Amino acid sequence: MTEENLHDSPTTDPLDLHACTHGQLLALMAELGQPAFRAAQIEDWVWSKGVASPDEMTNLPKALRGALAARTSASSAVELARQVSLDGSRKYLLRFKDGAAAECVGMPGTRKLSVCVSTQAGCAMGCVFCATGRSGLIRSLTAGEIYEQVMHVRNDFNTRVTSVVFMGQGEPFANYDETLKALRRLNASGALNIGARHLTVSTCGLIPQILRFANEPEQFTLAVSLHSTIQKTRDALMPGVKRFSLVHLYAALGEYTDKTGRRPTYEFALMRGVNDTDEEIDSLCDFCRGTLCHVNIIQLNEISGSPFHPSTSERAQAFIDRLARVGVEATIRNSRGADIDAACGQLRQRVIS
Ligand code: SF4
Repeated sequence: MTEENLHDSPTTDPLDLHACTHGQLLALMAELGQPAFRAAQIEDWVWSKGVASPDEMTNLPKALRGALAARTSASSAVELARQVSLDGSRKYLLRFKDGAAAECVGMPGTRKLSVCVSTQAGCAMGCVFCATGRSGLIRSLTAGEIYEQVMHVRNDFNTRVTSVVFMGQGEPFANYDETLKALRRLNASGALNIGARHLTVSTCGLIPQILRFANEPEQFTLAVSLHSTIQKTRDALMPGVKRFSLVHLYAALGEYTDKTGRRPTYEFALMRGVNDTDEEIDSLCDFCRGTLCHVNIIQLNEISGSPFHPSTSERAQAFIDRLARVGVEATIRNSRGADIDAACGQLRQRVIS
């Protein structure tokens, strides 16, 4: 280590500790005349301990902490608002350094903590039943910003995160590279070490990315929002994926299961009088029969001002029973945090007082 190196003034933009690669950190250590193991120590602070301020990295020499403070930045998210549900879920609105904001949710269980993260601030897909879809896309989030949401929830609950679902605001596959980086970081043993199967990405059906996802080596879990298997209804509900027909989606999912041997989950949010008819049940049975899948029937959450309303429990049960008759496993999923607008389709960029 040379004092001279450590006190060199920065000549480039600060390195964002939440976004930089291991290689970039190693290069910075070399530039500062530091041994390579310092990079791993810094990553341990950032990714395992959730600390991005060099001042708090107590196992680093003081001079290095000073140099890091001058040469790096950390896009620490600021919590703008939070709400706590009667079921114990907590929803947070986080603001990133450029002012873009997104919501994430922590859902505790017995010895479990699930986190739902956003991959974009807003969303361009325009699903008509979704609060996020109504506000449009502001921007995609970086892998660091996605990861930070998980750390924020973990630190608030002060417990280990056991699973993460990428089902908050945004279409993860419209932000594929950063989503994948975040998945890998969450899965890494030097970071949160969450098993790949406990990391679930939910897409509304972007076919090229589903096929790309099938080729990733990790066993991440795929969820696909169907919401209707009748083309006309699906087009009306999910205009953002109109260009991908159900026939092609079916073929792509076949390719995905053949290649990975993994079972995707199909999400189906029931809306009274819209997609809960007998015709929809028949069509869904046809779509799923003989394929590897699990269907989650979700009873839509009421969004104020929305023309869509939840279906009855009887209709939900009718879907489950009919699917069972054709050998398809299905469950009715209880949305968590519905009382704080934290449930599926309810997230949006809003400051809650
Ligand atoms: S349901 Fe998902 S993909 Fe559709 S608009 Fe909402 S956030 Fe976007």
